[in-house]
Amino acid sequence: MKVSSNKIVDIYNHYLNRLKVVYSEKESSILLKRLMAHFIDSQPYQIPFVDSDKRVSESKLLQIHFAVKDLLVFKPLEYILGFAKFYEHDFLVNENVLIPRPETEELVDYIWKNKNLFDKKPRGLDIGTGSGCIPIMLSKLFDVQMFSCDISQAAISIAEKNKKLHAVDIQFINIDFLNSSFWNLLPLDLDFIVSNPPYVRESEKVLMEKNVLNYEPHLALFVENSDPLIFYRQIHDFALLALKSKGHLFLEINEFLSYETADLFINDFSDIFIIKDLNDKPRFLHVIK
Ligand code: GLN
Repeated sequence: MKVSSNKIVDIYNHYLNRLKVVYSEKESSILLKRLMAHFIDSQPYQIPFVDSDKRVSESKLLQIHFAVKDLLVFKPLEYILGFAKFYEHDFLVNENVLIPRPETEELVDYIWKNKNLFDKKPRGLDIGTGSGCIPIMLSKLFDVQMFSCDISQAAISIAEKNKKLHAVDIQFINIDFLNSSFWNLLPLDLDFIVSNPPYVRESEKVLMEKNVLNYEPHLALFVENSDPLIFYRQIHDFALLALKSKGHLFLEINEFLSYETADLFINDFSDIFIIKDLNDKPRFLHVIK
Protein backbone atom coordinates (compact mmCIF):
# COMPACT_ATOMS: atom_id res chain seq x y z
CA MET A 1 0.00 0.00 0.00
CA LYS A 2 1.27 3.47 -0.88
CA VAL A 3 1.39 6.54 1.36
CA SER A 4 -1.77 8.55 0.68
CA SER A 5 0.07 11.88 0.34
CA ASN A 6 3.41 13.54 1.06
CA LYS A 7 1.99 15.34 4.10
CA ILE A 8 3.83 14.73 7.34
CA VAL A 9 0.74 13.48 9.11
CA ASP A 10 -0.11 10.99 6.34
CA ILE A 11 3.43 9.67 6.19
CA TYR A 12 3.43 9.28 9.96
CA ASN A 13 0.14 7.39 10.06
CA HIS A 14 1.11 5.14 7.19
CA TYR A 15 4.44 4.03 8.66
CA LEU A 16 3.10 3.85 12.19
CA ASN A 17 0.70 1.16 11.00
CA ARG A 18 3.53 -0.76 9.39
CA LEU A 19 5.79 -0.57 12.45
CA LYS A 20 2.98 -1.61 14.79
CA VAL A 21 3.08 -5.06 13.20
CA VAL A 22 6.44 -5.76 14.84
CA TYR A 23 6.81 -3.18 17.66
CA SER A 24 4.45 -2.08 20.41
CA GLU A 25 2.38 1.04 19.71
CA LYS A 26 4.53 3.15 22.03
CA GLU A 27 7.83 1.90 20.65
CA SER A 28 6.60 2.35 17.06
CA SER A 29 5.68 5.93 17.69
CA ILE A 30 8.97 6.76 19.45
CA LEU A 31 11.05 5.17 16.69
CA LEU A 32 9.08 6.82 13.90
CA LYS A 33 9.17 10.26 15.50
CA ARG A 34 12.92 10.06 15.93
CA LEU A 35 13.42 8.76 12.43
CA MET A 36 11.17 11.29 10.67
CA ALA A 37 12.58 14.17 12.71
CA HIS A 38 16.06 13.18 11.55
CA PHE A 39 15.20 13.10 7.86
CA ILE A 40 13.02 16.21 7.74
CA ASP A 41 15.17 18.27 10.08
CA SER A 42 12.63 18.60 12.85
CA GLN A 43 12.31 17.50 16.48
CA PRO A 44 10.68 14.21 17.55
CA TYR A 45 8.11 16.00 19.73
CA GLN A 46 6.96 18.04 16.70
CA ILE A 47 6.03 14.94 14.70
CA PRO A 48 3.33 14.59 13.39
CA PHE A 49 1.27 17.55 14.61
CA VAL A 50 3.44 20.64 14.19
CA ASP A 51 3.45 21.38 10.45
CA SER A 52 1.30 18.31 9.92
CA ASP A 53 0.18 19.52 6.48
CA LYS A 54 3.68 20.33 5.34
CA ARG A 55 4.81 18.22 2.41
CA VAL A 56 7.94 16.12 2.37
CA SER A 57 10.02 15.79 -0.81
CA GLU A 58 10.01 12.51 -2.72
CA SER A 59 13.67 11.90 -1.93
CA LYS A 60 13.14 12.37 1.81
CA LEU A 61 10.08 10.15 1.70
CA LEU A 62 12.21 7.49 0.05
CA GLN A 63 14.81 7.78 2.83
CA ILE A 64 12.06 7.40 5.44
CA HIS A 65 10.68 4.41 3.54
CA PHE A 66 13.99 2.55 3.51
CA ALA A 67 14.71 3.40 7.12
CA VAL A 68 11.35 1.95 8.15
CA LYS A 69 12.16 -1.17 6.13
CA ASP A 70 15.35 -1.54 8.18
CA LEU A 71 13.42 -1.07 11.42
CA LEU A 72 11.02 -3.81 10.35
CA VAL A 73 13.94 -6.26 10.34
CA PHE A 74 15.03 -4.95 13.78
CA LYS A 75 18.04 -2.94 12.69
CA PRO A 76 18.69 -0.51 15.56
CA LEU A 77 17.68 3.07 14.77
CA GLU A 78 21.15 4.28 15.82
CA TYR A 79 22.80 2.20 13.08
CA ILE A 80 20.23 3.38 10.53
CA LEU A 81 20.86 7.03 11.35
CA GLY A 82 24.59 6.54 11.96
CA PHE A 83 24.70 8.16 15.37
CA ALA A 84 23.64 7.60 18.97
CA LYS A 85 23.05 9.95 21.88
CA PHE A 86 25.38 9.53 24.83
CA TYR A 87 25.25 11.96 27.69
CA GLU A 88 23.12 14.17 25.42
CA HIS A 89 25.85 14.34 22.79
CA ASP A 90 25.93 12.77 19.32
CA PHE A 91 28.38 9.92 18.73
CA LEU A 92 28.92 8.31 15.35
CA VAL A 93 28.19 4.58 15.39
CA ASN A 94 28.15 1.70 12.95
CA GLU A 95 27.90 -2.06 13.25
CA ASN A 96 31.53 -2.30 14.39
CA VAL A 97 30.77 -0.62 17.70
CA LEU A 98 28.27 -1.16 20.47
CA ILE A 99 25.52 1.43 20.72
CA PRO A 100 26.36 3.33 23.93
CA ARG A 101 24.06 2.25 26.77
CA PRO A 102 22.44 4.32 29.53
CA GLU A 103 24.33 2.20 32.10
CA THR A 104 27.60 3.39 30.58
CA GLU A 105 26.42 6.98 30.94
CA GLU A 106 26.02 6.20 34.61
CA LEU A 107 29.58 4.89 34.74
CA VAL A 108 30.89 8.13 33.22
CA ASP A 109 28.71 10.10 35.61
CA TYR A 110 30.10 8.18 38.60
CA ILE A 111 33.69 8.94 37.60
CA TRP A 112 32.91 12.57 36.98
CA LYS A 113 31.19 12.92 40.37
CA ASN A 114 34.26 11.35 41.98
CA LYS A 115 36.78 13.53 40.17
CA ASN A 116 37.91 15.00 43.47
CA LEU A 117 39.60 11.67 44.16
CA PHE A 118 42.26 12.64 41.63
CA ASP A 119 45.09 15.11 41.52
CA LYS A 120 45.16 17.66 38.76
CA LYS A 121 44.85 16.18 35.25
CA PRO A 122 44.75 12.44 36.03
CA ARG A 123 45.93 9.84 33.51
CA GLY A 124 43.24 7.35 32.59
CA LEU A 125 42.99 4.29 30.34
CA ASP A 126 39.75 2.97 28.84
CA ILE A 127 39.94 -0.73 27.91
CA GLY A 128 37.67 -1.77 25.00
CA THR A 129 36.69 1.65 23.79
CA GLY A 130 34.25 0.92 20.92
CA SER A 131 32.80 4.25 19.75
CA GLY A 132 35.09 6.05 22.20
CA CYS A 133 32.12 7.41 24.13
CA ILE A 134 33.69 6.87 27.60
CA PRO A 135 37.08 8.59 27.14
CA ILE A 136 35.61 11.31 24.93
CA MET A 137 32.88 12.20 27.42
CA LEU A 138 35.36 12.13 30.32
CA SER A 139 37.66 14.45 28.38
CA LYS A 140 34.76 16.81 27.79
CA LEU A 141 33.71 16.78 31.44
CA PHE A 142 37.00 17.43 33.15
CA ASP A 143 40.71 17.92 32.68
CA VAL A 144 42.01 14.41 32.10
CA GLN A 145 44.64 12.74 29.93
CA MET A 146 42.94 9.74 28.32
CA PHE A 147 44.34 6.68 26.57
CA SER A 148 42.13 4.01 25.05
CA CYS A 149 42.58 0.58 23.55
CA ASP A 150 40.46 -1.74 21.46
CA ILE A 151 41.07 -5.00 19.60
CA SER A 152 39.08 -3.75 16.61
CA GLN A 153 40.71 -1.37 14.15
CA ALA A 154 37.25 -0.68 12.71
CA ALA A 155 36.07 0.46 16.15
CA ILE A 156 39.13 2.66 16.59
CA SER A 157 38.48 4.41 13.30
CA ILE A 158 34.96 5.33 14.52
CA ALA A 159 36.42 6.42 17.88
CA GLU A 160 38.95 8.61 16.03
CA LYS A 161 36.13 10.27 14.10
CA ASN A 162 34.22 10.90 17.33
CA LYS A 163 37.35 12.35 18.87
CA LYS A 164 37.58 14.87 16.01
CA LEU A 165 33.86 15.61 16.23
CA HIS A 166 34.21 16.47 19.91
CA ALA A 167 37.60 18.17 19.55
CA VAL A 168 39.32 16.31 22.39
CA ASP A 169 42.76 14.76 22.67
CA ILE A 170 42.96 10.99 23.27
CA GLN A 171 45.49 8.40 22.24
CA PHE A 172 43.90 5.25 20.79
CA ILE A 173 45.88 2.01 20.75
CA ASN A 174 44.87 -0.99 18.65
CA ILE A 175 45.76 -4.14 20.65
CA ASP A 176 44.28 -7.40 21.88
CA PHE A 177 44.18 -6.58 25.59
CA LEU A 178 43.74 -10.26 26.52
CA ASN A 179 47.22 -10.95 25.20
CA SER A 180 49.54 -9.60 27.89
CA SER A 181 52.51 -9.52 25.54
CA PHE A 182 50.98 -6.31 24.09
CA TRP A 183 50.73 -4.54 27.43
CA ASN A 184 54.06 -2.82 26.81
CA LEU A 185 52.17 -0.68 24.25
CA LEU A 186 49.90 0.68 27.00
CA PRO A 187 50.67 3.57 29.35
CA LEU A 188 51.95 3.10 32.92
CA ASP A 189 51.49 5.26 36.04
CA LEU A 190 47.75 5.48 35.57
CA ASP A 191 45.50 7.26 38.04
CA PHE A 192 42.53 5.25 36.88
CA ILE A 193 41.37 2.52 34.51
CA VAL A 194 37.83 2.38 33.19
CA SER A 195 36.28 -0.43 31.20
CA ASN A 196 33.01 -1.77 29.89
CA PRO A 197 34.39 -5.07 28.59
CA PRO A 198 32.39 -7.91 27.02
CA TYR A 199 30.56 -9.60 29.89
CA VAL A 200 27.39 -11.24 28.55
CA ARG A 201 27.61 -15.04 28.71
CA GLU A 202 26.67 -17.06 25.62
CA SER A 203 23.99 -18.65 27.81
CA GLU A 204 22.36 -15.23 28.31
CA LYS A 205 21.70 -14.82 24.58
CA VAL A 206 18.17 -16.13 25.13
CA LEU A 207 17.43 -13.02 27.20
CA MET A 208 18.48 -10.63 24.45
CA GLU A 209 16.48 -8.78 21.84
CA LYS A 210 16.86 -9.39 18.11
CA ASN A 211 18.07 -5.84 17.46
CA VAL A 212 21.08 -6.48 19.74
CA LEU A 213 21.76 -10.08 18.73
CA ASN A 214 21.50 -9.64 14.98
CA TYR A 215 23.26 -6.30 14.61
CA GLU A 216 25.60 -5.38 17.44
CA PRO A 217 29.20 -6.67 17.41
CA HIS A 218 29.41 -9.95 19.30
CA LEU A 219 33.08 -9.26 19.88
CA ALA A 220 32.06 -6.39 22.17
CA LEU A 221 29.32 -8.28 23.99
CA PHE A 222 29.94 -11.96 24.58
CA VAL A 223 32.21 -14.13 26.66
CA GLU A 224 32.30 -17.90 26.87
CA ASN A 225 30.17 -19.55 29.55
CA SER A 226 33.24 -21.38 30.80
CA ASP A 227 35.26 -18.21 31.49
CA PRO A 228 32.93 -15.20 31.80
CA LEU A 229 35.35 -13.07 33.85
CA ILE A 230 38.31 -13.39 31.50
CA PHE A 231 38.50 -9.62 30.89
CA TYR A 232 38.29 -8.77 34.59
CA ARG A 233 41.13 -11.19 35.44
CA GLN A 234 43.34 -9.53 32.86
CA ILE A 235 42.30 -6.07 34.06
CA HIS A 236 43.26 -7.18 37.59
CA ASP A 237 46.73 -8.28 36.46
CA PHE A 238 47.26 -5.22 34.30
CA ALA A 239 46.17 -2.88 37.11
CA LEU A 240 48.78 -4.41 39.42
CA LEU A 241 51.40 -3.34 36.88
CA ALA A 242 50.10 -0.08 35.52
CA LEU A 243 47.85 1.54 38.11
CA LYS A 244 49.45 3.90 40.64
CA SER A 245 49.15 2.99 44.29
CA LYS A 246 45.73 4.29 45.49
CA GLY A 247 44.67 4.39 41.82
CA HIS A 248 41.08 3.59 40.84
CA LEU A 249 39.35 1.01 38.70
CA PHE A 250 35.85 1.76 37.40
CA LEU A 251 34.28 -1.26 35.74
CA GLU A 252 30.91 -2.05 34.26
CA ILE A 253 29.97 -5.62 35.22
CA ASN A 254 27.48 -8.40 34.60
CA GLU A 255 24.64 -7.95 37.08
CA PHE A 256 24.47 -11.72 37.64
CA LEU A 257 28.17 -12.02 38.49
CA SER A 258 28.78 -9.06 40.77
CA TYR A 259 30.14 -11.01 43.77
CA GLU A 260 32.32 -13.26 41.63
CA THR A 261 33.75 -10.21 39.86
CA ALA A 262 34.36 -8.33 43.11
CA ASP A 263 36.04 -11.45 44.57
CA LEU A 264 38.79 -11.28 41.95
CA PHE A 265 40.08 -8.07 43.51
CA ILE A 266 39.80 -8.99 47.20
CA ASN A 267 43.40 -10.04 47.81
CA ASP A 268 45.39 -7.42 45.96
CA PHE A 269 43.34 -4.23 46.26
CA SER A 270 42.44 -2.16 49.28
CA ASP A 271 38.77 -1.31 48.73
CA ILE A 272 35.95 -2.63 46.57
CA PHE A 273 32.51 -1.07 46.13
CA ILE A 274 29.66 -2.67 44.18
CA ILE A 275 27.47 0.09 42.76
CA LYS A 276 23.90 -0.33 41.55
CA ASP A 277 22.51 1.19 38.36
CA LEU A 278 19.26 3.15 38.07
CA ASN A 279 17.39 -0.12 37.68
CA ASP A 280 18.77 -1.22 41.06
CA LYS A 281 21.01 -3.87 39.49
CA PRO A 282 24.61 -4.36 40.65
CA ARG A 283 26.30 -2.90 37.57
CA PHE A 284 29.63 -1.31 38.48
CA LEU A 285 32.70 -1.99 40.55
CA HIS A 286 34.83 0.75 41.99
CA VAL A 287 38.11 -0.78 43.14
CA ILE A 288 40.92 1.10 44.85
CA LYS A 289 44.49 -0.17 44.72
N1 GLN B 1 24.95 -3.90 28.79
C1 GLN B 1 25.17 -4.45 27.48
C2 GLN B 1 23.97 -5.25 27.02
O1 GLN B 1 23.26 -5.79 27.82
C3 GLN B 1 26.39 -5.32 27.46
C4 GLN B 1 27.63 -4.54 27.47
C5 GLN B 1 28.83 -5.41 27.58
O2 GLN B 1 28.87 -6.61 27.32
N2 GLN B 1 29.85 -4.81 28.00
O3 GLN B 1 23.69 -5.35 25.85
